[in-house]
Amino acid sequence: MKQETKCIQAGYTPKNGEPRMIPIIQSTTFKYDTSEDMGKLFDLEASGYFYTRLQNPTNDFVANKIAALEGGTAAMLTSSGQAANFFAVFNIANAGDHVIASTSIYGGTFNLFNVTMRKMGIDFTFIDPDCSEEELDAAFKPNTKAVFGETIANPALTVFDIEKFANAAHKHGVPLIVDNTFATPINCRPFEWGCDIVTHSTTKYMDGHDATVGGVIVDHGQFDWMAHKEKFPGLCEPDESYHGLTYATKFGKEGAFITKCTSQLMRDFGAIQAPMNAYFLNLGLESLAVRIPVHCSNALKVAQFLEKNEHVSWISYPSLSSDKYYDLAQKYMPNGTCGVIAFGVKGGRAAAEIFMKKLKVAMIATHVADAHTCVLHPASSTHRQLTDEELKAGGVMPDMVRLSVGIENVEDIIEDLKQALED
Ligand SMILES: *Cc1c(COP(=O)(O)O)cnc(C)c1O
Repeated sequence: MKQETKCIQAGYTPKNGEPRMIPIIQSTTFKYDTSEDMGKLFDLEASGYFYTRLQNPTNDFVANKIAALEGGTAAMLTSSGQAANFFAVFNIANAGDHVIASTSIYGGTFNLFNVTMRKMGIDFTFIDPDCSEEELDAAFKPNTKAVFGETIANPALTVFDIEKFANAAHKHGVPLIVDNTFATPINCRPFEWGCDIVTHSTTKYMDGHDATVGGVIVDHGQFDWMAHKEKFPGLCEPDESYHGLTYATKFGKEGAFITKCTSQLMRDFGAIQAPMNAYFLNLGLESLAVRIPVHCSNALKVAQFLEKNEHVSWISYPSLSSDKYYDLAQKYMPNGTCGVIAFGVKGGRAAAEIFMKKLKVAMIATHVADAHTCVLHPASSTHRQLTDEELKAGGVMPDMVRLSVGIENVEDIIEDLKQALED
């Protein structure tokens, strides 16, 4: 099946007389004929559902659709993108371990890693995504357990060289985790370039309508945990909380990561997506392949307009041929990148604020990457907890405006920007 068909049909195939649409299984628990039947589920001897804090059929239908879109073997929905990135890393890194992450990542993820996960005893090295292979190689330590980056960084719009990072990670026997939120599997499938685990904030393009917060983790099912078993005892040694079961031998490369993540982290932290939200997410996914090309063509036209506008001091949009990341974007995303553009308004912080007040079509919102055109000044809002140095290291300039181009008529969007930029 092609991506357009998977968006509509993958993940759920109704049997004779069953609902055409993915049903919302709004139930906390599931009934069994004997305690023995249920016991088999608890022991992971049989697959099935027993409690929605860990797993729910509606969520699994939708997760399976996303796994098909990314080309993975297993997936799980989480309550948010934050939960997805936390679980993806914490599933393999414990206190005393080390993770390498790109400096150019979402502010929330940077905080999660640099503040909260450090408190849990996990050490991080943040590295410029444009680093040389030698610099990257030198960042690895004996206790490094994973490498992390974003296909297109929010909001810096740097493009991550997936192959370069995947090669380095594999050379050191660890997986590469890529947050593919902005590109979506319509524009880029990181697994095709050597990535091992993909995460998303489904809150963005996948839902696409400002309706539900959510996340997903997808496993490519190719990383050989057992070949590096001294590094990954959680996957390769018996789990005492599951009667001595070993995930990597019992579920293989294809299933070990997601099964462990569900049965340990979802069990203990409970960051599950509500089945109702999964249903809404699925509605968004059905039109993903139709919406994404419109976001991209609208954004390219808007970027070309801004690039020529005398009130704009700089612009970054990886699909513009003048952009620093154009070549990498062409390699990984030849059909388009995303709808998000970053630019500077001449006159700095104050001019940017006046510009935003004059907008009528574009709305001021912290959100990005959905049907509605919206605009944000990160330095005074989402990223205000970061120091100027941290901002710049993440590629966020103090005068930067982040514009998320929606799927309205592009002439209306350009007209709005034009009047707001005029003196
Ligand atoms: C928004 C976002 C997140 C966090 O997702 P939430 O759903 O808001 O928790 C993580 N990564 C990227 C790239 C994002 O844009």
